[in-house]
Amino acid sequence: MLKKFFKKKESPVVTPETAPELKPAADSKPAKTKPKTSKPRTAKKPKITWDINQYVVEPKEGKKRFHDLNLPIELMQGIAELGYQYCSPIQAQVLPYTLDGYDAIGKAQTGTGKTAAFLITVITDLLRKPIEDSRYVGEPRALVIAPTRELVQQIGEDAKNLCKYTGLRVVTLIGGVDYEKQQKQLDAGVVDIVVATPGRLMDFHERNKIYLDMVEIMVIDEADRMLDMGFIPQVKRIISHTPKKSFRQTLLFSATFTQDILNLSERWTHEPVRIEIEPDNVAADTVEQVVYIVSADEKFSILKKIIAGDTVESVIIFANRRDETRRLYEKLQKAGFKVGILSGDVPQQKRSRTLELFKQGDLKVLVATDVAGRGIHIDGISHVVNYTLPEDPEDYVHRIGRTGRAGATGMSVSFACEDDAFLLPSIEELLGRKLNAVLPPASLLD
Ligand code: AMP
Repeated sequence: MLKKFFKKKESPVVTPETAPELKPAADSKPAKTKPKTSKPRTAKKPKITWDINQYVVEPKEGKKRFHDLNLPIELMQGIAELGYQYCSPIQAQVLPYTLDGYDAIGKAQTGTGKTAAFLITVITDLLRKPIEDSRYVGEPRALVIAPTRELVQQIGEDAKNLCKYTGLRVVTLIGGVDYEKQQKQLDAGVVDIVVATPGRLMDFHERNKIYLDMVEIMVIDEADRMLDMGFIPQVKRIISHTPKKSFRQTLLFSATFTQDILNLSERWTHEPVRIEIEPDNVAADTVEQVVYIVSADEKFSILKKIIAGDTVESVIIFANRRDETRRLYEKLQKAGFKVGILSGDVPQQKRSRTLELFKQGDLKVLVATDVAGRGIHIDGISHVVNYTLPEDPEDYVHRIGRTGRAGATGMSVSFACEDDAFLLPSIEELLGRKLNAVLPPASLLD
């Protein structure tokens, strides 16, 4: 990994023209002191038979191709299989820096392609600096932490897809599911990338099942949500077990850059480049948004009609509280819909199963709270319904970002009733535009 001694002194919002020249420095890692519980092992290297000519993407004005980034061929094969052709804006802006070893802080929501941005950085770094010697189990070279189990699972899946031809091993560690199983995965061989929620990671660390002193590159995803969920003390502890920030590369992503987040970034990153992707540039462009002015007791019958509509392939309905979400779920079930629920009071395994059924199209309707619904990476969700408007305007952007992903178009319908219409102005302020608030069409009314 390139060390940071040659990094920029400032952290401006960068433009591609301002890229400084980087020079590699001698590798130096802190000495290991901890006892190891398992035998050293070496990683297997797969044979490369694929050729970049098998994946043709024409150059396009104003677009950066993955071909132009000089990525390792094994990674390109994974990218080709996923069908990514051109970098999304955050990828185009951040990768030239992070691939050169810079720390970065990125203001970006889900839906922007930030996960691939950091995973491509991580995978490239690990492949470019292979470790030929024996390694110990439980000693990741890259660590990604994220606040929710769903998000960790999805990052883990993305990582496995991108790593498919690299020989790199990914292990995900999350609370609420079988500890032994995760332990077995850790024991099964050297691990390159660990993706984890902070609590479960600390659990494994405290039991000496995982060591963080060989972490070369660290990603903190959804830092603002970590803060909201009270995870910062755990994150601080995790980071204190990794090499010092000048010896590791750190990437931090957050949907917002509040002063608290900027202070934490300052502590955890070393002269980072700073990239900001505004919510307007996210899914909003591909999502048609409408607000129906309704009364509270009209909502359910309108919802049923929306779900039954011809254009609705799959729909996520958001409500603000768990009890509200559950009531809605039960009412929809009674009304004969095949519906799933994602909320904090549903056991993790059940949530994973529900998500899988929804992904496969076996469930058309999902009811979710903001925390559980955040970071759901499913393409092709045609509709999002805000059954109640969120109290935090950022959540509105997250919610509608569940649809209109990866270039597809989507539709978001929000209900504004006497209880929550007052929340609209702050949402409009964040979006920087007025929302189209209308009475529901006659076809949706009884
Ligand atoms: P994320 O912002 O990480 O939640 O990613 C949003 C979605 O976009 C995911 O389903 C990714 O698989 C997809 N994606 C990421 N990068 C690209 C790209 N360059 N081209 C097409 N799809 C992408």
